[in-house]
Amino acid sequence: MNGLMMQKKLLISSLIVHADRHHGDTQIVSRRVEGDIHRYTFRDCHRRARQMANALTSLGVKPSDRIGTLAWNGYRHLELYYGVSGMGAILHTINPRLHEDQVAYIANHAEDQYVFFDLTFLPLIKAVAGRCNTVKAFIAMTDQAHMPTDAGIDNLLCYEDLIEQSSSVYAWPVLDEDAASTLCYTSGTTGNPKGVLYSHRSSMLHTYAAALPDALNCSAREVILPVVPMFHVNAWGLPYIACMVGAKLVFPGPALDGKSLYELLEAEQVTLSAGVPTVWQGLLSHVEETGQSFSSMRRTIIGGAACTPAMLRKFQETYGVAVLHVWGMTELSPMGTICTMKARHVEMPQEKRYAVQSKQGRAVYGVDMKIVGADGMELPWDGATSGDLLVRGHSVVRDYFRSEGDSPLQIDHEGQEWFPTGDVATIDADGFMQITDRSKDVIKSGGEWIGSIDLENIAMAHPAVSQAACIAAKHAKWDERPLLIVVRKQQADLTREELLAFYEGKIAKWWTPDDVVFVDEIPLGATGKILKNQLRERFGDFLMQPAECQRVA
Ligand code: ADP
Repeated sequence: MNGLMMQKKLLISSLIVHADRHHGDTQIVSRRVEGDIHRYTFRDCHRRARQMANALTSLGVKPSDRIGTLAWNGYRHLELYYGVSGMGAILHTINPRLHEDQVAYIANHAEDQYVFFDLTFLPLIKAVAGRCNTVKAFIAMTDQAHMPTDAGIDNLLCYEDLIEQSSSVYAWPVLDEDAASTLCYTSGTTGNPKGVLYSHRSSMLHTYAAALPDALNCSAREVILPVVPMFHVNAWGLPYIACMVGAKLVFPGPALDGKSLYELLEAEQVTLSAGVPTVWQGLLSHVEETGQSFSSMRRTIIGGAACTPAMLRKFQETYGVAVLHVWGMTELSPMGTICTMKARHVEMPQEKRYAVQSKQGRAVYGVDMKIVGADGMELPWDGATSGDLLVRGHSVVRDYFRSEGDSPLQIDHEGQEWFPTGDVATIDADGFMQITDRSKDVIKSGGEWIGSIDLENIAMAHPAVSQAACIAAKHAKWDERPLLIVVRKQQADLTREELLAFYEGKIAKWWTPDDVVFVDEIPLGATGKILKNQLRERFGDFLMQPAECQRVA
């Protein structure tokens, strides 16, 4: 017997309809590529999203067509989030930090029909336009006054012209909720990027779960500034969450340096922000140098890479900003775990709470996880045993878009399908997961595993260290040993010996890095993560041939 409740599909368009009807005058503030601050409301956004849906229809866009974007966080990008997915086409957010060959590869692989771009990315569009075989036109996300004059691109359209020429009368179609809504490629640190194709249903369930109090705890009283880009995993779902709960949104556009971010956070009285640790480092350096503090920001979501205990303390103790540590992946939409306390943690002494907060957290509703050994058998949740982390859930990838390879899933002995994350982790008795490494970054010393994240966290706690990465370097006796690559803080004096002495008493002696290399810069990937494969290429032989590697550095 079926229930007798209304049948209402879980569709992304329902979010902007809700935001318009129930939070219509809530603001969306954007720093524009044009340089100024733009301000309007959810009601305006909904109207323009409908105009965009009509414009796309006029351009011949059909359900399931892929529409690419190369754009910063801003209101026009948000209109495309709703206009494109809402009409039944698929929003394909492309990461503009990828190499141009990868951008062309992705646009072709996705068979994008149109590509929208912010003016910042005009040089990139020029470089790839001739290679994007399926793209019918490129649309500059600006008005006539700012249109590039001699772009040399065939079929260049103007965003504001499309809006102006289109009616705002549009009824969002009732789509199949399993229909694809959004496409996002992984960064492809090794090999070609792989496409993760979200559905309306998976996105909606992710939005509900991520907004919950023990997840991101979002409400209509929040002012949210996602630094995390809308071109990578939907800015962790925040543009959807804000519509669901009616929170004010603040978009930083291209200005992601510490000073610009700080000014916007203060001017708009932002209460909640989100980003990867490398971005927050820029912000923290700025407030430290200028002696400023945060007057409204109460919480910040940190993920994408491990938040070091040093950063956690700095935010909480110096600036009174609570850190919400999260772990996720493109393949998970992206939230996997969020570190919020259980009742038993509330009364714990501060130091113990910090230890819990440094973990990546517990599973959000809709995600199940387990750790397994090499034999595929589940390992205990004791907070000490580490194993390969597997997940499953209604917002977890089943297969990659147009993949030619085998299914990425593993089937366990009970016949259940799991997605192998490629991360190595522990899970404690309370269900808190802690990443010890990516499996390809684990250091295997004499058959034993050393987690590089722990070693990096210690280095980052040293006052003279600005950035640290620990890699597996080849070793004649132990196969691999930890090697620390460090960027010193400006004007800081720090020797190899001082830094290695800093490890004493903090870890088992045999975990101590064998050596330290000081560099000016550590390479970061398209999503702000340290490119350890590049470091391994450069310094993998350091312990065997230090002179040779130093010369390359
Ligand atoms: P890619 O960089 O390949 O596109 P994602 O952006 O999806 O991948 O990143 C997923 C990976 O980022 C995870 O598998 C994990 O290794 C790492 N990661 C994400 N959040 C955290 C975190 N809080 N702590 C440690 N590692 C993290």
